[in-house]
Amino acid sequence: MNVVNAAGWRPAMGEADAAAGGPATSSGDRGLMLEECLSFELGAAGKCGVDLDEADRAPAEGLRKFLRKAPPALPGLTEPETVRHYTRLSRQNYAIDLGPFPLGSCTMKHNPRLNEKVARLPGFADVHPLQPQKTVEGALAVIEQLADWLVRLTGMASVAMSPKAGAHGELCGLLCIRAALDARGEKRDVVLVPESAHGTNPATAAFAGFKVESIPATPAGRVDLEALKARLGAGGPECGVAGVMITNPNTCGLFEPEMKAIADAVHAVGGYVYCDGANFNAIVGKVRPGDLGVDAMHINLHKTFSTPHGGGGPGAGPVVLSEALAPFAPLPFVTRGADGVLHLVDEENASEGHASAFGRMVAFHGQMGMFTRALTYILSHGADGLRQVAEDAVLNANYVLRSCQDLLPAPFAASGPCMHEALFSDAGLAEGFSTLDIAKGLIDEGFHPMTVYFPLVVKGAMLVEPTETESKAGLDRFIASLRSLAERAKAGDQSLHSAPHFAPRRRLDETLAARRPVLVWQGTEPR
Ligand SMILES: *Cc1c(COP(=O)(O)O)cnc(C)c1O
Repeated sequence: MNVVNAAGWRPAMGEADAAAGGPATSSGDRGLMLEECLSFELGAAGKCGVDLDEADRAPAEGLRKFLRKAPPALPGLTEPETVRHYTRLSRQNYAIDLGPFPLGSCTMKHNPRLNEKVARLPGFADVHPLQPQKTVEGALAVIEQLADWLVRLTGMASVAMSPKAGAHGELCGLLCIRAALDARGEKRDVVLVPESAHGTNPATAAFAGFKVESIPATPAGRVDLEALKARLGAGGPECGVAGVMITNPNTCGLFEPEMKAIADAVHAVGGYVYCDGANFNAIVGKVRPGDLGVDAMHINLHKTFSTPHGGGGPGAGPVVLSEALAPFAPLPFVTRGADGVLHLVDEENASEGHASAFGRMVAFHGQMGMFTRALTYILSHGADGLRQVAEDAVLNANYVLRSCQDLLPAPFAASGPCMHEALFSDAGLAEGFSTLDIAKGLIDEGFHPMTVYFPLVVKGAMLVEPTETESKAGLDRFIASLRSLAERAKAGDQSLHSAPHFAPRRRLDETLAARRPVLVWQGTEPR
């Protein structure tokens, strides 16, 4: 059996899987793939890696009551043991620098090393948010230039740079909408969200204190414009609708062609249009959301503009705003004064044109390291390069879609090309086989699985986002693996039910792990 996966390394066989490739080893290690226990299990109690002097001073009077009764339960490891422990663990980690991450709705793409080089220049990396402003003009210029690019690329009036992630940007946009309604003296408390929305949309609307109402999707996977119009009714504040939140391209990987009509209908009743722009990488350089009637849209710098993410951050979610919402954007702002010098507008000087700001999202100015990386990415691509990013991302997704749709049903493929993601369903696999088997099989094939069971509107959804950074040869390898797994699942190959066979820990009980996580070391008893 071929056990060298697409990423080129040989995965560990795991504890009991000797049968899959050669004899068992007494250590449990397989060549260079090493079994790794917890640092607590590795270290011996009382062992210490450093040579500390006995404490000879009695603690100060007031601190005596805090004296430990027993030594802390730390793992006793030497420095080489510690270094090896973490290096071994790092080898079991799948990463974008090892192979593709086809997670739909996540946009995991290569982060050019140039971005890192620039972000690490001492003038950027060592800057401090409390430095006197005249010493950070370069950093302010980065924020201003990036803001200028974002406003131009989206055709909007303004941008709030400080939100630190997509969901944080959504909150910023909804708080702008709330502030605008307050300024009009209107109480509207409903936000309409399509069925296929990214989960953060209804969560944000609820968090911001709005009531969430769902708009149905058409069979073609788009917002049902007629149902939306019916809900808006004759309009006016009585409809209670503060706005809509529409993801475009949406989470079925489709462009919402009626966006302008949706925006016109919502504006006609005095509501605002929030667009979830996390998937802007599919349309950057091709479509300007401002032309479609959008009032607020976050841009995930960590998706469209390549800055690294995963594992919870860091991210950056600037929010572009229409003329109607711009006055309410949160502080601070970078502005060029009459003297031509860049400075910050904050609570001290908000009267300089920002008196209606709704407040502040974060302590300082936003995610400086992400700004530097995103601006580097933008400048190194240029306007034509950014357009090509969108074209290649869409081309790659359509290549995956058309290369697999004969084996895996693609629910919306008949309604035309997809955008940046290819969406499949597990309908038609053999009895008892589902998306989970395909996803786990992909791990054996050396790929990170795609997004599974999302969006909810598709049975057993598999959402694949190849991004523009995968080559045709790389896509062909992925497609070959996906096709082979689909064929095995259709033929009822029972071995798929126990995949992954080659991952260090085989198939985990994910429900149990999520419901009853063991997060604290509980002693030496093997569990
Ligand atoms: C990623 C994503 C978000 C959330 O962005 P975060 O930076 O993870 O908060 C929201 N909507 C869509 C469509 C996304 O893909």
